[in-house]
Amino acid sequence: MKIFKRCKRWICPGLAAALCMLSLSGCTTHQDPVSRTDILFDTVVTITLYGPGQEELLDSCFALGREYEQLFSRTIETSEISQINAAKGQPVVVSDDTAALIEAGLYYSELSGGAFDITIAPLSSLWAFGEEDASVPEPEAIEEALSHVGYQQVHLDGSTVWLDDPEAALDLGAIAKGFIADKMKEYLLSQDVSSAIIDLGGNVLTIGCRPDGEAYRIGIQRPFAEQNELTGILPVEDSSVVTSGVYERYFYEGDTLYHHILNPSTGYPYENNLLSVTILSPRSVDGDGLSTTCFALGLEEGTRLIESLDGIGAMFITDDYEIHWAGEHPALE
Ligand code: ADP
Ligand code: MG
Repeated sequence: MKIFKRCKRWICPGLAAALCMLSLSGCTTHQDPVSRTDILFDTVVTITLYGPGQEELLDSCFALGREYEQLFSRTIETSEISQINAAKGQPVVVSDDTAALIEAGLYYSELSGGAFDITIAPLSSLWAFGEEDASVPEPEAIEEALSHVGYQQVHLDGSTVWLDDPEAALDLGAIAKGFIADKMKEYLLSQDVSSAIIDLGGNVLTIGCRPDGEAYRIGIQRPFAEQNELTGILPVEDSSVVTSGVYERYFYEGDTLYHHILNPSTGYPYENNLLSVTILSPRSVDGDGLSTTCFALGLEEGTRLIESLDGIGAMFITDDYEIHWAGEHPALE
């Protein structure tokens, strides 16, 4: 279970002695992190790199994020996803990255038997979570939107994409951040960065471990609580930690909470006594795909799915605030 091994164990005694000697002689091995926070894809993005002179790498990471936003956004009219959505069923040629993202989205749509569905767009636009005047849509409008949802109508042939139903549309929001985090990590590794944290709105991906050889300590927010109130801390290295929760985007109408993970069979938010699902995985695209998928499948079916996969851990929090683990995971601190 390599991803959860602590780096510190790998420091050999000789190297440890050398590091001690360096600090005794007044040199320091400590490297101040450089960190930047900005808004990308409607979320707060923070990237932290350990090591000197890495401001330019931060510039490039944020530039990369913006490029992907221009390709994948459902609300930017010129994006490749918007072009597919506006094509009325006609084929559209897209970049390799967009094709790869759609392929990953189709993979999770099939794996979940349609509980996760990248053609959720007509419904997610209708519900408009995150917008100020979001409210429960009329049943007729939900029925109409539902009739255009179904991932089976998405066709990907190389870099050509088309949808059978001219009114259908793609929403890759459940998986795009994970995909982009992996691309940022790939870029940073190519620049010899060995220690970093990429945090795309709580979708966290780490590179290596901390410069002091310890695992990163990733806080898991307590559902509905202030950001600094934690369910616990997960020690991880070289791993992705992604959470999907009802408390991320929701509104109340009467006493009922309506949240942003929608059931493609009913057109309404999933009601399954889950508050959140956190996935630990090597790749963030899988963490993002699986966090939404497991939320959609619910505790029992989600647990079965995780147990059938290698090297993935899942923490489900039910509405009694109990934690239920599945798969491979470090102890929660
Ligand atoms: P977040 O984007 O808040 O981190 P998720 O990764 O769980 O959370 O993605 C939720 C988003 O996915 C929704 O805002 C919507 O755009 C989209 N979505 C909603 N329901 C589904 C679904 N059943 N299948 C796939 N995508 C969905
Ligand atoms: Mg997700």
